[in-house]
Amino acid sequence: MTDYALPLPPQPSVAIAGSAARFPVRRIFCVGRNYAEHAREMGNDPTKEPPFFFTKPADALVEDGATIAYPPATRDLHHEAELVIAIGTGGADIPEDRALSHVWGYAPGNDLTRRDLQAEAKAARRPWDMAKAFDASAVCGAIVPVARCGHPARATIRCTVNGALRQEADIADMIWPVAGIIAHLSRLVTLAPGDLIYTGTPAGVGAIAPGESCVVEIAGLGRAGVTVTATG
Ligand code: MN
Repeated sequence: MTDYALPLPPQPSVAIAGSAARFPVRRIFCVGRNYAEHAREMGNDPTKEPPFFFTKPADALVEDGATIAYPPATRDLHHEAELVIAIGTGGADIPEDRALSHVWGYAPGNDLTRRDLQAEAKAARRPWDMAKAFDASAVCGAIVPVARCGHPARATIRCTVNGALRQEADIADMIWPVAGIIAHLSRLVTLAPGDLIYTGTPAGVGAIAPGESCVVEIAGLGRAGVTVTATG
């Protein structure tokens, strides 16, 4: 047995709907600008861009029902309601017509974003990491196995803050659908079992103030809700 100098870190994982077992999470990938209306609200042209990706650390995961601290270094924490793909079978150069067979399940998620830091990074042509990959930035609901939900082509995705509707769209409006995302991403990295892919957010992103609760729901896939503490 290997002798490690420090205790091994805990294995990040997410609940599975209807099961006591947990889904072990390896990496978290995220798609940028995957709904035309959101690309426009961020000042971009949705017709020109192939999918692009950024990442979050797996230990940034937060589960449905959690309370998290208002994150440091920001005054503009934003919600981004997203469909999350859970990869069950890895691979590279996955053809689009085989891509769905690599999916283990789906969940609602919230790609929490320090929008002020992202705006600064964009202006300075610097990486987005500190805007996207901070502690507790990856909210994920219980994963629904494909065996239960199939591969939903359309479903309403909604985001509320303290009960007020902020985002409402259909996952069918994604510029790059699930199979295309997997095909593109697998040309850039070798996907592995346990990888999660956040698939981008529709229009209506906005702030979550200290003390507020934010809930993302996708029809047929449950919810991913989080409460942010009143003080940072
Ligand atoms: Mn996002």
